[in-house]
Amino acid sequence: MKMYYDQDANLEVLQEKTVAIIGYGSQGHAQAQNLRDSGVKVVIGLRQGKSWKQAEADGFEVYPVSEAVALADVVQILLPDEQQAKVYREEIEPNLKKGATLVFSHGFNIHYGQIIPSEETDVVMIAPKSPGHLVRRTFEQGAGVPGLLAIYQDQSGKALDTALAYAKGIGCTRAGVIETTFKEETETDLFGEQAVLCGGVSELVKAGFETLTEAGYQPEIAYFECLHELKLIVDLMYEGGLSHMRYSISDTAQYGDYMSGKRVISTASRQAMKDILHEIQTGQFARNWILENQVGRPMFNAIDRKEKEHPIEVVGAKLREMMPFVKNKK
Ligand code: NDP
Ligand code: MG
Ligand code: MG
Repeated sequence: MKMYYDQDANLEVLQEKTVAIIGYGSQGHAQAQNLRDSGVKVVIGLRQGKSWKQAEADGFEVYPVSEAVALADVVQILLPDEQQAKVYREEIEPNLKKGATLVFSHGFNIHYGQIIPSEETDVVMIAPKSPGHLVRRTFEQGAGVPGLLAIYQDQSGKALDTALAYAKGIGCTRAGVIETTFKEETETDLFGEQAVLCGGVSELVKAGFETLTEAGYQPEIAYFECLHELKLIVDLMYEGGLSHMRYSISDTAQYGDYMSGKRVISTASRQAMKDILHEIQTGQFARNWILENQVGRPMFNAIDRKEKEHPIEVVGAKLREMMPFVKNKK
């Protein structure tokens, strides 16, 4: 395994260069501001809208995507994955400077062949392993989030230097940057969010909540037990792994953990994880997601509406109002 830290990266590589951040959402606002604080010249590429106003309010020069790309030596594409191919074709590719470097924070469009850059372009990935808002917050605290680095095309022979400088600029080399490939990043990222971080955890929380409330327990207690307390447990795992979490909980909880965990995540769940991984590897998931977007997201929207109305969301909103220390993000 190859790991890079601050001392392996040279920010001077980006001196005299202009970085265009395309998109100013979760990752865009964080990466742009971190780079600027690291002394890098940043412009933002957007369409007219909410993000445009925000980027201007944050003091950036904002341009239509085509113009930002034309100004830039390094172009970081931080649009939603499902929009990237169209914007790339229509606004990025025709305006890309010769010798420019394309940067991604997720390998989806390259790996699944939705964007095929010209061979003359360096193509790299710096993927922070963190939600965008924490990319910014940890940087401001003097720390950083870990990142993944991959080189897809290295026409100039300097793609690694550029990628490392970029990673340093957004703070990732403070925590550690692991070298990977677009394939490995894409497949593990999709698997992680589906099976564990987002899909797995959401269903686990809901299943626990529903089991308790259907058995007649108060929804407020079920909420605290199955959702609120999860953060406290995960914080312990984050600090010191599973052992540290188990050190902190009672022996009763630890015995229950050992006896019951494998019944919840049973062989059926493990088989489901293997199936999910297989569908990611074969491109079946990517194909479904691309097609879903082409027909206007009927399934995404129907499920999203239903999920927002789930009783755990209703009781949770009420309880969080009473906990001002929990940031209430509407
Ligand atoms: P967001 O949805 O938060 O932001 C997207 C941005 O793109 C918005 O500023 C939006 O502006 C703009 N945009 C959308 N469509 C267009 C368009 N047609 N032309 C110009 N601008 C447009 O995206 P994320 O930050 O979540 O994701 C960006 C990338 O980062 C993805 O590749 C994702 O996989 C990756 N990533 C994301 C993580 C995260 O924490 N969210 C974690 C790691 C990687 P507007 O206001 O006008 O809609
Ligand atoms: Mg992802
Ligand atoms: Mg307890």
